[in-house]
Amino acid sequence: MARYKDSFCRLCRRERMKLFLKGERCYTDKCAFERRGYPPGQHGQRRVKFSDYGIQLREKQKVKRIYGVTERQFRNYFEKADRQKGITGTNLLILLERRLDNAVYRLGFATSRQEARQLVGHGHFLVNGRKVNISSYLVQPKDVIEVKEKSKGMGRIKEAVEGMARRGLPQWLEMEKDVLKGMVKGWPDRGELTTPPIQEQLIVELYSK
Ligand code: SF4
Repeated sequence: MARYKDSFCRLCRRERMKLFLKGERCYTDKCAFERRGYPPGQHGQRRVKFSDYGIQLREKQKVKRIYGVTERQFRNYFEKADRQKGITGTNLLILLERRLDNAVYRLGFATSRQEARQLVGHGHFLVNGRKVNISSYLVQPKDVIEVKEKSKGMGRIKEAVEGMARRGLPQWLEMEKDVLKGMVKGWPDRGELTTPPIQEQLIVELYSK
């Protein structure tokens, strides 16, 4: 499936906010958004007044980029969220949070979702004792996510875990740092998904047209 291969920092600049797509670099003064906090391109610094549609579209693009999913995957998540009971926008964010690559990132085994996707794809993780190399696998309460024994010595994973204090561990996850093992305590909580800020109702409005 086609993946975005251009500069991730351009995406932050396009969305006019830090999306934290490049791991540790995002927390340093090398962050491109800190240096040039305006959209890329010749007309990037122009003042733009967005229409309602434009605002909704940007919000959808932003969330899609944060979680690194394609348009088709995003649309499928939305349709699934819409079929579930409850608030569609919240359901959508919870589904995206439950992706295995996101859970690996949130647990601190990777410094970004992009890195987490790569590590999952290369088969470095077990879910409930079985190797899972599908990033879109949806975790659920009581799932145990751990680094495969052979991969426990990997510098990349160790370094990511060292830096996890900065990123913080959400309430719905638990982590045993010494044995590189995580557990899903419950469903992700919408209230915790505040960085970067997301207005999911705009996405619902966009797809409901
Ligand atoms: Fe690049 Fe990260 Fe800064 Fe975004 S937040 S501009 S991805 S360094």
